[in-house]
Amino acid sequence: MSTMSWRIVDISGQRFGRLVVVALHPERERYGTRYYFALWRCRCDCGAECIARGSHLRGGKVTSCGCFQLQHARGKHVVFIGILDRLTDDFNRPLGFQVQMEGAKVPREIGAIVDEIIIMDWVKFDGRGEPTRAFICTSPNRWNYPAKDRSGRLDQIEEPHLGRLLTKIVDQRKPAATPEA
Ligand SMILES: [Zn+2]
Repeated sequence: MSTMSWRIVDISGQRFGRLVVVALHPERERYGTRYYFALWRCRCDCGAECIARGSHLRGGKVTSCGCFQLQHARGKHVVFIGILDRLTDDFNRPLGFQVQMEGAKVPREIGAIVDEIIIMDWVKFDGRGEPTRAFICTSPNRWNYPAKDRSGRLDQIEEPHLGRLLTKIVDQRKPAATPEA
């Protein structure tokens, strides 16, 4: 049983970078055997919610739900792989697609954060022959897939090879970023 008294400075309503503090989180983060950190529920400008340590917020260590780091991860490619759900209404009419992901907001909003949305599917070229696995990279497309290519370098259909796809996106974006050994 801890005899330490708690004094939490209320920072709800305050803004730290992209985050606005909503409320104190009921749990504390344990630090060592006798210390605890206050945790705060925050809403990010991107729409996501996250939990952050008060000291990290005040110290400027945490300024977003993670979307900022994601958008500024220089020299790195962050790749999410997920299953695309086909959404239908009660009459089984198509409503579009949504990525299978945790939470209600993230699947809807992840598309706005990332630069590329690539769908892998089996495609029949010219309607004949065996279906071939391919990447669908741009919209609009005849499958109504929510594909997106911010680089502007991709064709609608690319061969399903992630490495070559990244090379194609990056190579022409800027000559000589930082060549890796
Ligand atoms: Zn965010």
